[in-house]
Amino acid sequence: MQVVHTIADLRSALAGRGRPAFVPTMGNLHAGHMSLVRQAKPLGDVLVASIFVNRLQFLPNEDFDSYPRTLQDDCAKLQAEGCDIVFAPKESDLYPEPQTFKVQPDPALADILEGHFRPGFFTGVCTVVLKLFNAVFGSTGGGTAVFGKKDYQQRLVIERMVQQLALPVTIVGAEIARAEGGLALSSRNGYLSAQELEQAQALSRALHALAQATRQGQTPLAQLEAQASAALNALGWQTDYLTVRLRDNLQSPGHAQLASTPLVALGAARLGSTRLIDNLEF
Ligand code: AMP
Repeated sequence: MQVVHTIADLRSALAGRGRPAFVPTMGNLHAGHMSLVRQAKPLGDVLVASIFVNRLQFLPNEDFDSYPRTLQDDCAKLQAEGCDIVFAPKESDLYPEPQTFKVQPDPALADILEGHFRPGFFTGVCTVVLKLFNAVFGSTGGGTAVFGKKDYQQRLVIERMVQQLALPVTIVGAEIARAEGGLALSSRNGYLSAQELEQAQALSRALHALAQATRQGQTPLAQLEAQASAALNALGWQTDYLTVRLRDNLQSPGHAQLASTPLVALGAARLGSTRLIDNLEF
């Protein structure tokens, strides 16, 4: 496995190796990331993972500085899964000058939910992903990239960007990897105390309960969502949103769509100072 730090070295490493399958990450890899890597392996001729904590997608008061950086451990895990190339640029490699050109995603998709609570988040995500795609696929004629459904809205935004900008990249969505008890695996779970880890299971349970109540169709959705938030807050959380949306565009479903249309329940909430997200398709 090669570990490269610059776009030039990445392109040299990729030369003559066919079409890449690509897994972008911010590192501190856990079993969720590794399931993406395993899924990506057969989807290309050469498997590339990137590790880059992208300042552009953090708000000033968020955890950019304290985000866990564990490059050596990450590389050992990637090597064990048969990864061929790790692209781990320093900030000065990927942003040698201030990144003043940015991707502006469709506000209808990117300014709701996560984008509402983290303004500019998807601009930062799209800008770095487009740049990473150029780095990985720019000299290979395209390929496949795998994104986790854990970040449900992110995957949709990226799919839309690929479509609208005609990028030669196929996006594949991977299912959410969970710990026993249902907590979605996340690098930010490392911020939680043992007690908070127990408490954190309530987020996925809240999504299940909301999904079930939605299908029963007896109570208006807005009321169910408000009840779900209140119930989670009563367990010590501060809920940003617990909501049911259409899977394709994350708009609110109409009443007639509650019975059988494919939907997704999405949630974001803070336990202490740790903000977690999760979702459930139903
Ligand atoms: P991150 O390092 O948090 O930026 O995540 C990198 C990729 O891994 C993204 O596509 C995430 O959606 C995905 N990912 C993170 N956690 C999980 C999980 N528990 N299950 C599946 N995919 C995940």
